[in-house]
Amino acid sequence: MRAVPHTPNQSDPYSSRVLFGRLWRGYLADHKGTMALALIFMMIEGSTLAILSYMLEPLFDRVFVGGETQAIWWVGGAIFGLFLTRAVTLVINRSLLTRISLKSSTAMQIDLLRHILTLDGRFFQDNPPGALIERVQGDTIAVQNIWSVVITGLGRDAIALITLFGVAMSIDLRWTLFALIGAPLLILPTMAVQRYIRRKTDHLRTQAAARATRLDEVFHGIAAVKLNRMEDYQLSRFGHIVASIVHGEVKSAASRALIPALIDIVTGLGFLGVLVMAGPQITEGDRTVGEFMAFFTAMALAFQPLRRLGDMAGIWQVAATSLTRIFRLFDTVPAITIAAQPVAADPGRTGIEMEDVHLSYGDHDVLRGLSFTAEPGRTTAIVGPSGAGKSTIFNLLTRIVDPGAGTIRIGGVPVAQMELPALRDLFSVVTQDATLFDETIRENVLLGRCDITDETLQGALAAAHVSDFADRLPAGLDTPAGPRGSSLSGGQRQRVAIARALIRNAPILLLDEATSALDATSEALVQEALDKLSAGRTTLVIAHRLSTVRRADRIVVVDRGRAVEQGTHETLLAQDGLYAGLCRLQFSQ
Ligand code: ADP
Repeated sequence: MRAVPHTPNQSDPYSSRVLFGRLWRGYLADHKGTMALALIFMMIEGSTLAILSYMLEPLFDRVFVGGETQAIWWVGGAIFGLFLTRAVTLVINRSLLTRISLKSSTAMQIDLLRHILTLDGRFFQDNPPGALIERVQGDTIAVQNIWSVVITGLGRDAIALITLFGVAMSIDLRWTLFALIGAPLLILPTMAVQRYIRRKTDHLRTQAAARATRLDEVFHGIAAVKLNRMEDYQLSRFGHIVASIVHGEVKSAASRALIPALIDIVTGLGFLGVLVMAGPQITEGDRTVGEFMAFFTAMALAFQPLRRLGDMAGIWQVAATSLTRIFRLFDTVPAITIAAQPVAADPGRTGIEMEDVHLSYGDHDVLRGLSFTAEPGRTTAIVGPSGAGKSTIFNLLTRIVDPGAGTIRIGGVPVAQMELPALRDLFSVVTQDATLFDETIRENVLLGRCDITDETLQGALAAAHVSDFADRLPAGLDTPAGPRGSSLSGGQRQRVAIARALIRNAPILLLDEATSALDATSEALVQEALDKLSAGRTTLVIAHRLSTVRRADRIVVVDRGRAVEQGTHETLLAQDGLYAGLCRLQFSQ
């Protein structure tokens, strides 16, 4: 991963200076060469304006006033040459700047996604997908503009200003100072406006995240929105968010325009001052018209770059807000800690032990001293009322979350000491909501693995009864599964998930049995596929069917975050405790 330097000991870790430093080291330093080139061309473009204003002096004094008609050719030719130079440098600059801004912002997007992928379950609980999409796309795009603005500002505009003022001063130093008399008036308002813009933009970025989240939820829950006739409700919520964005954007734009507007006023004052002073000097013949025209043009041409430079502060504030959000995210470390010297997971040792495990979400104690064991190579059924903490056990084993206290061991090794990828390789997880991607069925089964022979794939597809339905589809395995697998039925999705798990061939199987009623044929096929999958593997199954618990080697009954009963179906029935009650109430067969 690209170095995104962390600066923990700064008093304000997100001050403009620190942000720019991190940006430079992380994403700009790589493009030093291109930037230098762009800067040179920018300077050429910038200095053409000064030369242009300088050319006006001979144009007026020698051609128009002096009547040297021959001079018109070289003066006119030089002016044309200047415009030609501007045209060429413009094209070169555009392409160089686009290259830098896109390369650096996309590098940032990739790094950001890479980092987000290392974060844990709790992070994703707090940060909805829409907000994260907005960070990766919206915030990095906001940063994109900064390159062109800074380089254009530093290169073209600053050079234009310096050279134009050079021309002006060479004509008359006092006129120039007079023109600048109002400049100090700009300092305080500029500082105040910058603070305001930063605050406003922060709010706007949050609103943009809320907008993305809303859209994400509406489109993902489109069936629920339509069935519950929530269209108007969702539209009105969306409407409120965008109205607040419009309100904020207008205020932010108005405040940003304030600085160039002040520059206008100050420049106007300057012009007035110069006219008052220079007018009599010209009429009295102390100064030529050409000198005044050259001075006046230099000042007039300085006006646009000056305005743009004035706007730069506002643009930086907007980008700095996005940068703060981006670097804050980079500075978020996963709550899942990796041992300094991780132990390699041994796929041959898969016995599971949970010992006095506690977990809470905020004030809510989800697990309260859960202890149980699952024998290697055997099937352990987990049963219990809804909300008892059964799915949480899966999240703990795979380290999507870590427990507050207690130990979880696999093959005698605490999971906290294992390498994370190796730990996750131990598991195949087949849950109720088999997450399918909007790719083909084949891609959904292979999940990016290229080392699977066609024979293995066909074997898995047949065992999971995917071939049964895929063969009948016009495009077969190359049929797209639709967004979240929506073009397949529930049973079909589950069979694809089972085929995935067979391909994955991991030694431990975590299975969340479907509660949704599959039709009898589908259910029989899924069951048969699951039997093949779990054969010989350490299997933990959240059981909803009596047939499953009866077949299990061991049953763990979970209630309110504790394992309250453990044993076989018969022994537990004989105890006549919670399990016996659940059997009577919950299991439908
Ligand atoms: P089960 O699978 O037994 O139905 P879960 O393990 O899914 O239960 O959840 C146990 C409890 O933990 C529930 O009360 C649920 O509300 C809570 N819970 C689960 N995940 C989260 C989470 N990410 N944030 C907050 N509470 C959660």
